[in-house]
Amino acid sequence: MTSLAVDFGGTRIKLGVVQNGIVTASKTMPAESVQSLASRLEDVAVALEKLCAELRLPLHTCGGIGFSYPSIIDRRSARILDHFGKFGDASSLDLRAWAKQRLGLPLAIENDARMALIGEWRYGAGRGCDNCVIITLGTGIGVATVIEGHVLRGVHGQAGILGGHITMHINGSPCVCGNVGCVEKLASTSVIAQLAQQHEQFKTSALAREFVVDYAAVFRWAEQGDACAIALRDQSLNVWSALAVNVIHLFDPELVIFGGGVMGSAKFILPAVQNHVAQHAHTPWGKVKIAASQLGDQAALLACEWLIQEDLKKARQDEQT
Ligand SMILES: [Zn+2]
Repeated sequence: MTSLAVDFGGTRIKLGVVQNGIVTASKTMPAESVQSLASRLEDVAVALEKLCAELRLPLHTCGGIGFSYPSIIDRRSARILDHFGKFGDASSLDLRAWAKQRLGLPLAIENDARMALIGEWRYGAGRGCDNCVIITLGTGIGVATVIEGHVLRGVHGQAGILGGHITMHINGSPCVCGNVGCVEKLASTSVIAQLAQQHEQFKTSALAREFVVDYAAVFRWAEQGDACAIALRDQSLNVWSALAVNVIHLFDPELVIFGGGVMGSAKFILPAVQNHVAQHAHTPWGKVKIAASQLGDQAALLACEWLIQEDLKKARQDEQT
């Protein structure tokens, strides 16, 4: 089977062609999420047509198109339920109708953290493990869960994916989701520069001379003994470790996979989380494995093919009943 795959990230959109579990071609384009999604979708369609032409792949031979999208998704209607300030028209679009009209293909769409987990579960770090959770550390924090071989979705599609919006600090600052003290507000790329500037030792920190204060800079300067960077690093590691304990207590996984752009600093993150979980998670049956994602950006693209196949399977079952 051949599928088209589109991964909508915070800053870029990744497009790919997936053939039987292998990404055979891909390209990236800027997300430009201040635009309308309707206009960006046309750019996506043109780019996919070009990619297929380069591969001499007629569109009609594809089994479908899959979207990985950073939102809560209604899988039955293939609609995006919220937009958190990006692509403001997203929830008004009938994506299934768009894919049919524009590309002549069926469309399957799922939340981005779930897609990262599906990719890792079927093809990467979670292969062979039917009880696993992913925590993606990036602009925001994504969580998704597979329990007993089933992707956990829930009645409104939000089960298991709001880990970034679990309350970590009951008197914390307000979050875009409406809650206060969310995990994302305490340790994510979206807040790290602001947290650095608020730190009392920021002015004398090497971070103050960085053009961009991101986690790569925080981990680099913490290793050099910079007090502000050490404080930010340690707070973030504590928050992510506490989140890992929370998801272990909630979902009973055998494996917690850490992914996302911040995992460029995996050599600092994984041992800290592993130590914390070994000390604090209540798992009398044994130890939960903590591992890094293996597929990076490819996970969501590969998951598109799996999702299209799942939809086709369901459609066949519905026809028979
Ligand atoms: Zn929140």
